[in-house]
Amino acid sequence: MTDAPAPTALKLFNSLTRQLEEFRPVHPGEARVYSCGPTVYNYPHIGNMRAYVFADTLGRTLSFKGYKLTHVINITDVGHLTDDADAGEDKMEKMAAEKAQSIWDIARHYTEAYWADVKALNIRQPAHWSIATDYVPQMIEFAKAIADKHCYELEGGLYFDTSTVTDYGALARAKTEDGEGRIEEVEGKRHAADFAIWRKTPAGETRQMEWDSPWGRGAPGWHLECSVMSEALLGFPFDIHTGGIDHREIHHPNEIAQNQAHSCSDASGARIWMHNNFLIERSGKMSKSAGEFLRLQLLIDKGYHPLAYRLMCLQAHYRSELEFSWEGLGAALTRLKRLVMAIEKLKSVDDPYEGFGDFTDPSEDFWTERNRAERANPTHRFADDMIHHKLSRAFANAIGDDLNTAIALTVLEDAIQKGSNNLRHELVERFDGVLGLGLLTLARSDLRIRPKAATITESEIEAILTRRKEARAVKDFATSDKLRDELIAAGVEVMDGDPLGWDWRLEA
Ligand code: AMP
Ligand code: ZN
Repeated sequence: MTDAPAPTALKLFNSLTRQLEEFRPVHPGEARVYSCGPTVYNYPHIGNMRAYVFADTLGRTLSFKGYKLTHVINITDVGHLTDDADAGEDKMEKMAAEKAQSIWDIARHYTEAYWADVKALNIRQPAHWSIATDYVPQMIEFAKAIADKHCYELEGGLYFDTSTVTDYGALARAKTEDGEGRIEEVEGKRHAADFAIWRKTPAGETRQMEWDSPWGRGAPGWHLECSVMSEALLGFPFDIHTGGIDHREIHHPNEIAQNQAHSCSDASGARIWMHNNFLIERSGKMSKSAGEFLRLQLLIDKGYHPLAYRLMCLQAHYRSELEFSWEGLGAALTRLKRLVMAIEKLKSVDDPYEGFGDFTDPSEDFWTERNRAERANPTHRFADDMIHHKLSRAFANAIGDDLNTAIALTVLEDAIQKGSNNLRHELVERFDGVLGLGLLTLARSDLRIRPKAATITESEIEAILTRRKEARAVKDFATSDKLRDELIAAGVEVMDGDPLGWDWRLEA
C-alpha cells in the first residue's frame, strides 16, 4: 500500500474531516469506490437517483483522471427497517405483506425498475452490483468475529455496543447519546445509538427471509452488509465510500464502528467518505409515500427527457441542496436541447476547419510552453492547440475541484463554440465522457418525448401545421387561427419563431 500521488490533481470533500483533500489512492493508479445502493422495496424517487448521478459522475471523473476504476453499488434486499435508527419493521417484509407477494419477487421487480432508471440516466454499470442476500454467510462470519468484544445479546438479537469503539459517531459529529431520532424502545439496549447486528425472528413468527445463526434464526442488521461487501469486493481499506447525506448520520457511523471493531483498529474502512446533499421539494423532504411520487417515469410521462434531469443535477454542486421544480426541469431541458442542436450542427459540417478562429485569450504559461517559430507563424493546428490546452485545463480544474460540474458544463458549452470542428468533436467527447449526457449520440428528435396524456400524434400535428402554413401563405388567417385553436385544444403549444427551431411542444 503506497500513497502514490494522483496523475492530475483531484480534490474531494471528505465528510470525515469536513475538508477538501487531495485524492491519493490506496493502490497506485486505481480507484476503488463503494456506493450505498437502493433498498428495493419500492421504486426509487428522483432524489434517490441524484445519489447515483453523483456516484457516477465521481466514477467518470476518476476514469477521466486516469485511474482504473472499480465501482461497487449494493442492492439492499434485506435488513433495512422503516426507520434508519433501527426501529420499525423490515421495509421488504412490510411491502411483501402489503402486496401479498414474495420478498424475492418484490426485490426483483424493484431492482429491475432501479436499473431501468440507471440506464435512462446514463449511469455507467459498476463493476459489481452486490446483492445483500448473497452475502449473508459472510455477514454471519463478520458478526462472529466481533461478537465477543463488541456486542451483547438481547431478546431481539445481537446488538453492537457503540461505547466499545473510539470516537463513535465522529462522522456524524453527533454525541453518542443525543443523536437525533435514535432513541428507540428496545429494552436492555446499553446506549441509544447501539444498533442491531442480527435480528432474531420473534418466537412463534416466521419471516420470509431468515437464516440460522449463533444468535438464533433471523436476519442481519442493515449496516452489516456494506461493511462486509465493501471489504469482500474492494479490500480494506479502500478509497471512497459514497451515499446520501442522511447516511452521514446513522448508517455510515455504524458501518465505521463495525469496521473498526472488525479490523481492531481506528481505520474507518474508506479513506474518503463523500455524501451528496438532498433533492428537496418546496413542500418538504421528498418521500416515497407523500404526495405525487416523483419517479423518473413520471418525468418521462410528462414529456421530459430523463437526461434533462441528469443535467439539472449537474447544474448544482453535489454538496448543495437542490430544489426540484417543473420550471427548473424545463429550463434544464431547454439547455440540453441547445447543446444537442449545437452538436448536430457540428456533425453536419464537413470542413474540419470551419468555425475556426475565434480564440483570443492565450494564457501566459501557455506561451512559455510554445516555441518561438511556431508562435511567429500560427497555423490552424497551432490555434487548435491553444484552444485545446486552455479548455482542457479549465475543464480538468473544474471537475478536479470537488466535482464542480456547474463550471465544467460551461466549459463544455465553450468547447462547442471554439476551434476547428475536429477539435470541438474531440473535446465534446472527452468532456461529456465525464458529464455523461450522451451528447454525441442524442438526437434532437430523442428529446421530444410524447407526454403520456397526449391524444394527438406527431404526424397529425405536422399535418395540421402544414395546412396552417399553406393557409398563412395565402393570407387565409381565419383558417390559420382555426387550425391553431385545434392544436391548442389537443394540448399542442405552437411556437412560431422559436429560436431553438422547435415549432411545437406537447404540453404535459
Ligand atoms: P434508500 O433506497 O432509501 O436506501 O436510498 C438510496 C440512496 O438515496 C441513499 O444514498 C440515500 O442517502 C439517497 N437519498 C435518499 N433521499 C434522497 C434525496 N431526497 N436526495 C438525494 N439523495 C437521497
Ligand atoms: Zn450502505
